[in-house]
Amino acid sequence: MAGAIGATASCVFCEIAATKSTSHSILHSDDRVVAFRDINPSAFRHYLVVPVEHIPTVNDLQRKTEDHSLVNHMLEVGRMLLVRDAPQSKQYRFGFHQPPLNSVNHLHLHCFALPYTPSRWRCIKYLSFGPLGFIEAEKFLEKIKPLPAVHSKV
Ligand SMILES: [Zn+2]
Ligand SMILES: [Zn+2]
Repeated sequence: MAGAIGATASCVFCEIAATKSTSHSILHSDDRVVAFRDINPSAFRHYLVVPVEHIPTVNDLQRKTEDHSLVNHMLEVGRMLLVRDAPQSKQYRFGFHQPPLNSVNHLHLHCFALPYTPSRWRCIKYLSFGPLGFIEAEKFLEKIKPLPAVHSKV
């Protein structure tokens, strides 16, 4: 572990993505995303899905096919893992921080299988899915959905 000391200047999620083939804490990895457990779980299951590429925040994503497909893939992976690991959960929630309230400056999708951890839920800012702070993944996908091609009038 000695090598990890002093590495704080670099991006922690990029580091995790770089170790994806060797780390046993990785739940899923492919050429676009990596998924792992949140170190401070706030729910029965609480996973993070991050793009392998360093994308700082949701503000760096645009209304284009490439970005929409990446976020959609992150959501699919998160949902697949929660369904696999918490099939009995009554509710799943997926969301992103909105700047400036993001905790780590590398885009990450929070995936929760409820219930929330009782002793912690009140003090966790991102559990208040509101206009500030957190945006639900489905809503965000709508926001960056590529505009349909303009059709000429029939
Ligand atoms: Zn990064
Ligand atoms: Zn976070």
